[in-house]
Amino acid sequence: MLVNAKDMLIKAAAEGYAVGQFNINNLEWTKAVLITAQELNAPVILGVSEGAGKYMCGFKTVAAMVKAMVESLNITVPVALHLDHGSYDGCLKCVEAGFSSIMFDGSHLPLAENIEKTSELVRLCAEKGLSLEAEVGSIGGEEDGVIGMGEVADPNECKKIADLGVTMLAAGIGNIHGKYPANWKGLDFGALEKIHAATGSVPLVLHGGTGIPTDMIQKAISLGVAKINVNTECQLSFQAATRAYIESGKDLMGKGFDPRKLLAPGTAAIQATVKEKVELFGSVGKL
Ligand SMILES: [Zn+2]
Repeated sequence: MLVNAKDMLIKAAAEGYAVGQFNINNLEWTKAVLITAQELNAPVILGVSEGAGKYMCGFKTVAAMVKAMVESLNITVPVALHLDHGSYDGCLKCVEAGFSSIMFDGSHLPLAENIEKTSELVRLCAEKGLSLEAEVGSIGGEEDGVIGMGEVADPNECKKIADLGVTMLAAGIGNIHGKYPANWKGLDFGALEKIHAATGSVPLVLHGGTGIPTDMIQKAISLGVAKINVNTECQLSFQAATRAYIESGKDLMGKGFDPRKLLAPGTAAIQATVKEKVELFGSVGKL
């Protein structure tokens, strides 16, 4: 059974750790994240972008796969299935498909329109029992083809969106999607403190969790971040392990061409990355 992300994030914010959101791309990805979360007794959020949803043959296919997998793998830790950076229409589709959590990304819209659409989704999510993440200001790096500049959100705008009754809030503090450039200045903790002060007890979300140094992750958690999104790092681990398998010629030996063998090292690598992140975020055993 899937749960929404509200209780797990309130607990995380209160106890000073963060829940990992790991984006999924296929069956192997989903299995790797679920098995690792179960092994670590950690709550987990499976993130699905609109692009990944399309790739996996639609949100209904994703929801059916995740629900069936949770049951057949006997996953008992809290699992939320969450739309990542959703459009308004994408949010409606995920509510219908049986997701337990959605993110409406209205950060590129004029504030009034972001407020209006987020408010409508606050009502819908309350009615249907889903959790809702909203976003203020743009986060740097590539977000579905748009390159941001590592923007920093305005605390007053954050307060306006947080006060609408969203479950969690993503606000730019110099974080970037994808790999961080060598000249990256680091997270803006001054901005995070102001945003945290302005938004009170609303759990904050840190996007772009790949490659942020350990001490910065820990400091961000101490300043109200209760959910950290990891996507690129699992992709890089999968890629490196798959490359090593093929470069060592293992796909040419015996039945090494069997997809179940060919994809196994990459899947194990995702598990290792998820374990490392869950340990870093402090959510091991936090049920
Ligand atoms: Zn993001």
